[in-house]
Amino acid sequence: MSTQHDIIVIGAGIAGLCAAREAARQGLKVCLFEQLMFGGLVLNVNHLAPGLASGPTSGADLAADLMSQLSDLGVHTVYDAASALEIGPTVRVECGEGAQHARALIVASGAQLRTLGIAGEAEFAGRGVSQCADCDGPMFSGKTVVVVGGGDSALQEALVLAQFCAQVHLVHRAASFSGRQKFIDEVTADARIVLHMSTQVEVLKGDETLQAVVLRGPDGQAREIASMGFFAYVGLEPCTSFLPARLARDAGGYLLVDANLQTSAANVFAVGAVRSGFAGELSHAEADAALAVACAVRLLRSTA
Ligand SMILES: Cc1cc2nc3c(=O)[nH]c(=O)nc-3n(C[C@H](O)[C@H](O)[C@H](O)COP(=O)(O)OP(=O)(O)OC[C@H]3O[C@@H](n4cnc5c(N)ncnc54)[C@H](O)[C@@H]3O)c2cc1C
Repeated sequence: MSTQHDIIVIGAGIAGLCAAREAARQGLKVCLFEQLMFGGLVLNVNHLAPGLASGPTSGADLAADLMSQLSDLGVHTVYDAASALEIGPTVRVECGEGAQHARALIVASGAQLRTLGIAGEAEFAGRGVSQCADCDGPMFSGKTVVVVGGGDSALQEALVLAQFCAQVHLVHRAASFSGRQKFIDEVTADARIVLHMSTQVEVLKGDETLQAVVLRGPDGQAREIASMGFFAYVGLEPCTSFLPARLARDAGGYLLVDANLQTSAANVFAVGAVRSGFAGELSHAEADAALAVACAVRLLRSTA
């Protein structure tokens, strides 16, 4: 079976949910793809930073609120990864329920947390290695965990974990943190957080579950820390592997866009964390969605 829409949105993080909602409000027939769970990255955030998102204060509540609006607006949702993708004068996306066609595409496939790629990281995923301090923190109540990274995410998540854990070892490869001073001050003042600067993680060890993390510090000595949990927040990488190579990317792999959020293909727009130059917060994702839809509507009307 093949279905024709005005616009396809790939990815139902906050950028994609807002884009689908705005497009439907503009009277367009919208198809929204999501491969995992509606909400994307923000599902990991139990307490959204004040002032950044209006309305709900947890990421899951925000996503649920947007989803219910989409269902009222009649957006067609496909619970599948958008893969076989053809971009020409029209766009065609193959999925389990048949080909979906549209005249324009909004890519909102976001980004995922990078892994360190060290021995034991994949092996103990879900058995001590986690990427969600808010969701998994309570499992480590009274235990020792290791957090890696030096930016806002690592600092914030170390503070979240310190509420549950007996001790949090915060490991950063540089000599100083790059996160906001407010978080640096809080981390430094928290007696349960032990800082390891200029230190690398070498290997994760365990049996059925993670038991220890081996660090190598500035003195060159290896040190083993008994730890049941491991959380790495060492940046994001864009989800673009399913897209044709002809869509131009920057050096980090993020989609290049112009001031209208148009990619190197005229009928393809990119919004949120997948695009080059994204400012990083939910309010920016919402603003991207509004701009891309306005430009897509203009394009569709001019070529109707
Ligand atoms: C730890 C952390 C804490 C944060 N805290 C805050 C905060 O307090 N306040 C704030 O404003 N911002 C915060 N942010 C930033 C905010 O979460 C992001 O700016 C925002 O979620 C980006 O949304 P997005 O829709 O662009 O991407 P994502 O959330 O990454 O969503 C992309 C979606 O696309 C889907 N997808 C990918 N590829 C495909 C495919 N081929 N087919 C179908 N679906 C696909 C993914 O499964 C995902 O659901 C935080 C970020 C992190 C990492």
